Amino acid sequence: MAATKGSRAKGNKRSGRNPRRGGASRWTQRVHRGLRILQVPELAKLSWLVHGFSTRVGGVSKLDGKRVLNLGFTEWDKRENVKENRRRLQAAVGAQDLKLVSLLQFHSDGILHFETAPTEPARGDASVTKRAGLLLAVQTADCVPILLVDPKNRAVAAVHAGWRGTLARIVEKTIGRMQMQFGSKAEDLLAAIGPAIGGCCYEVGTEVAAAYSGQFANAAEFFDELRTGDEPNPLQWMNMMPPGHQPPPKKVLLDLQKANRAQLEAAGVPAKNIFASDLCTACRRDLLFSYRKEGAESGRMMAVIGIRGSRGSEQSRAEVNSRQLKVERKKRQ
Ligand SMILES: [Zn+2]
Repeated sequence: MAATKGSRAKGNKRSGRNPRRGGASRWTQRVHRGLRILQVPELAKLSWLVHGFSTRVGGVSKLDGKRVLNLGFTEWDKRENVKENRRRLQAAVGAQDLKLVSLLQFHSDGILHFETAPTEPARGDASVTKRAGLLLAVQTADCVPILLVDPKNRAVAAVHAGWRGTLARIVEKTIGRMQMQFGSKAEDLLAAIGPAIGGCCYEVGTEVAAAYSGQFANAAEFFDELRTGDEPNPLQWMNMMPPGHQPPPKKVLLDLQKANRAQLEAAGVPAKNIFASDLCTACRRDLLFSYRKEGAESGRMMAVIGIRGSRGSEQSRAEVNSRQLKVERKKRQ
């Protein structure tokens, strides 16, 4: 995993293996009009696709005297600021012509299939489409944003997975929906797991650990230590507290990215096709929003994915041209 650039290059030369193997992608930053958008090279190279994970940097909203790219309609921000920020995000990822489809998220496992942009935002926590011209979006500030791509059938999905959505297996169900709706195969999918609160910072109560161990056989892997609240509490004995005066339930650390990666793999997505950001929202408040750390005064980031329009797109024309070239080259050989 921690191979240096040099050693990996050498390894490739020796074995002649595909450098994409292992999914150890280096995320890139796209800078546009002061915005910094995080991208996965393996997705960025698909010319029919647009995608990106926003950061807090840039934008027209003001938070603590600094300009930030708040993309959610929060109480502290003006509606027109958010709309302008969304326009700038679309421009930064090259999706000005696409229609933004954002959701009214409620930590559910609700998955919506879009063929056209809805007139009113719909309630749900994941969206799927095969239609060009739609830009699917999920908003986060600690929760896990996941983008899915089916390169064979040219279909995409955006998923919002907090602890409740993860527990409800929303990413697994989204893959099921793509299979049903588009004939997607899990083995073909590419998955980008965006910045989220990390296992370093995400404290949850033991009741969450208990719920996870009831749902996932491998739940212990997602926590720093799996305490479900049923164990005898050594502190209680040491402090000699009288009965009924127990200390508050202890906290455990949950790694939501790991839990979602496990779901993706269990559903059949190859590990080499899963690209996870290593940024923690709570550790990197210079770059990201964290609801845990900032509370109601936090902004919202957006993860977006869409299929470019087939007409008038320079990119798709370039792609057609390059395909034709390849065909011609083959013919000549
Ligand atoms: Zn952290």
